[in-house]
Amino acid sequence: MGTIRLSGIGRSFKSTAAVRDITLTIDDGDFLVLLGPSGCGKTTLLRMIAGLLEPTTGRIELDGEDITDLPSKKRDLAMVFQSYALYPHLSVRRNLAFPLRVQKLGKDEIERRVQDVAASLEIDHLLDRKPKELSGGQRQRVAVGRALVRDPKAFLMDEPLSNLDAKLRTQTRQELTALHRRLGATFVYVTHDQVEAMTMATRIVVLNAGRIEQYGTPEEVYDRPESVFVAGFLGSPAMNLLDARVVGAGGRISVAAEGLAGDLWAGSTDALDVVLGIRPEHLEIADAAGPRAGVSIAVTVDIVENLGGEQILTCTSGAGRVHMRTSRAVRIAEGAELTLRAAPEHVHLFERS
Ligand code: ADP
Ligand code: MG
Repeated sequence: MGTIRLSGIGRSFKSTAAVRDITLTIDDGDFLVLLGPSGCGKTTLLRMIAGLLEPTTGRIELDGEDITDLPSKKRDLAMVFQSYALYPHLSVRRNLAFPLRVQKLGKDEIERRVQDVAASLEIDHLLDRKPKELSGGQRQRVAVGRALVRDPKAFLMDEPLSNLDAKLRTQTRQELTALHRRLGATFVYVTHDQVEAMTMATRIVVLNAGRIEQYGTPEEVYDRPESVFVAGFLGSPAMNLLDARVVGAGGRISVAAEGLAGDLWAGSTDALDVVLGIRPEHLEIADAAGPRAGVSIAVTVDIVENLGGEQILTCTSGAGRVHMRTSRAVRIAEGAELTLRAAPEHVHLFERS
């Protein structure tokens, strides 16, 4: 079991509030990703769960037991740091054995567990090397291995892939997902990388300035962002966000801005000044024979970027910059003037703050 419950957790450094009043239950077996930009409080929150930093306010429970005042080494949690924090003077074998020696396990038991973990991570041939004799990817595995040997109730990981090159990052991402499925253990994983969050998480918490901006499955957070902040953080390129005004009231909402017009079937808002959100993959080139409902935007294509199978168009409209993602089969030249359209179900409405 590894259910972690945070109640009103906060932490200030002098006058700066790094984490503010976070209440959250991380269910046993979840792969919970704490996602947000640099400085939003991810590491601070993780370190409080790990017991490496005292909260200013709030309580932390692990499987119903209050662990707020329990020292780090007495918490049945294992942490993987961004820097790996391996002991440079110890061999891989002794690095892996270290947490078990602290627990005062017998020699044979330690050797058996080290061998098991080394075999499962395919680092058994590296056991006699020192960290400086390893590649970045191998060091990363040893850091994960050192967490695994303890068989903890939950794994806490702070940007564990950020020091790997792109190819290794993708591979290791898939390995960590497989590891999570195999162990069925609770993972709390910090990242600023929305691709890692989307691909690995069972639940995502989006943090903004120390607060929870949104909590949900990757699909919920991507398909139904509750704020402009979340909408603008996920996706590559992120959701297009265009200032518009609601014209006319009632069940049917019409929106307008310079070069933009639309009728939306769905959506309700009391606001007059709104932000329209449309994902780049939900825009298409308007076709006179196509559907009339939804939003249409007059744009000029500034840049066409070829991604291989797809292309990204960066356009200017009267309502602001617009990105569109489309198949390369659609031939579009830089400088072209087009009308883009999004179906009503793909148009998000946010209040302008
Ligand atoms: P993240 O991991 O999301 O990048 P952090 O949790 O490291 O963010 O930091 C959140 C905020 O708290 C930042 O404004 C940071 O400068 C501040 N902070 C973090 N640790 C300390 C510290 N030890 N002393 C003072 N300020 C800190
Ligand atoms: Mg951090």
